[in-house]
Amino acid sequence: MRKPIIAGNWKMYKKFSEAKQFIEEVKGLAPDADKVDSIICAPSLFLQPLVQATEGSTLQIGAQTMHDAKEGAYTGEVSPVQLKDIGINYVILGHSERRQYFNESDVSVNKKVKAAYEHGITPIMCVGETLEQRESGATASIVENQVAAGVAGLAEEQINQLVIAYEPIWAIGTGKTATAEDANEVCGVIRKKIASLYSPEAADQVRIQYGGSVKPANIEELLGMEHIDGALVGGASLEADSFVKLLEAGL
Ligand code: PEP
Repeated sequence: MRKPIIAGNWKMYKKFSEAKQFIEEVKGLAPDADKVDSIICAPSLFLQPLVQATEGSTLQIGAQTMHDAKEGAYTGEVSPVQLKDIGINYVILGHSERRQYFNESDVSVNKKVKAAYEHGITPIMCVGETLEQRESGATASIVENQVAAGVAGLAEEQINQLVIAYEPIWAIGTGKTATAEDANEVCGVIRKKIASLYSPEAADQVRIQYGGSVKPANIEELLGMEHIDGALVGGASLEADSFVKLLEAGL
């Protein structure tokens, strides 16, 4: 049985006062850690105080990106060492917005995934196709290639810990959700790819989230699917009430 993992991605939203108030409202309501992994991926600026604010809670704070180097002259970046040092255990890597606006590629995502493992941080590695790619029937091959490139060089015991977020780009922030069947089909393709690259056992352990306009009204159907083990959520993670509902759907 794979433990559900529900992660909010706040992107570049919220002032600090709003972030703190959200955490105060949600931290006592997050499910037991042995039942659901509950995570908010906050802007870098807020990570350390929010880690402190969640002390003693099952709600965890994650990062939205990081550099692959442990330190260096990379103005504006944060390193895996810095994240781990303040108590961060999850990082989103290769989000489509990072790929689109910050030139991240499968190669740079792979470097970051490896760096995250090296420093004891669990990567939430994002993959997904554009609308054009979906309409041309290329979804499976695009996603398989992104997965293979993203995990290149990882050992099987690392793969067991991996979280993959399948996020069709056309469904992110658009209100358009993939049908639960379509999302499950692609998550199944991802699992099969991991089985062929590693083993059926590794494929059985890897957790695959769906992301793309997930909200309280559709999460239960999505989580009911065989290959969907959680959700990566943007818009609906910004309101405490709706995020708590998403977490409860994981129970
Ligand atoms: C995301 O940011 O990863 C995302 C899926 O956003 P939304 O839920 O708003 O579509």
